[in-house]
Amino acid sequence: MNTLENLEYTVLLSHFKELLKTNRLKYTRQRELILKTLFERNEHFTPEDLYLLLQGTYPHLNIGIATVYRTLNLLEESSMATSISFGVAGKKFELANKPHHDHMICTCCGRIIEFENDEIEHLQLRIATQHHFTISSHLMQLRGLCETCQQKETPSKQEERA
Ligand SMILES: [Zn+2]
Ligand SMILES: [Zn+2]
Repeated sequence: MNTLENLEYTVLLSHFKELLKTNRLKYTRQRELILKTLFERNEHFTPEDLYLLLQGTYPHLNIGIATVYRTLNLLEESSMATSISFGVAGKKFELANKPHHDHMICTCCGRIIEFENDEIEHLQLRIATQHHFTISSHLMQLRGLCETCQQKETPSKQEERA
């Protein structure tokens, strides 16, 4: 299971500093703010979204998009962050300290709905036990259309037919 689950910010930050050191990267205010923003905002970010938010919040710091990309990839490589892939459209990242949850992903607008269901979690354990299998982790991603996009779909199809 995820060892970073529910870690406090100060602990995450010390992991992050270690990570930068191992990768011969300097610890900077810019890089810390990437981690801090991910920690404080309970969202999934594309590098572009995060970049725009950081630019808007800390314009004087001049955080570059390359730094955002690099830092997010570094966090993911070291399992401090996870990502959801949208194919050629890129990835959305979140920190790995959040309690376990699964995802519903809208393939139209990119919206991500988080959910947790005890029945599903238990069922997985039961199935694994039946197969004498020990689960170390699991990823569940349900892909489809969110409510808004389902509504968008219908009128346009009607127009096409008219
Ligand atoms: Zn949608
Ligand atoms: Zn999530």
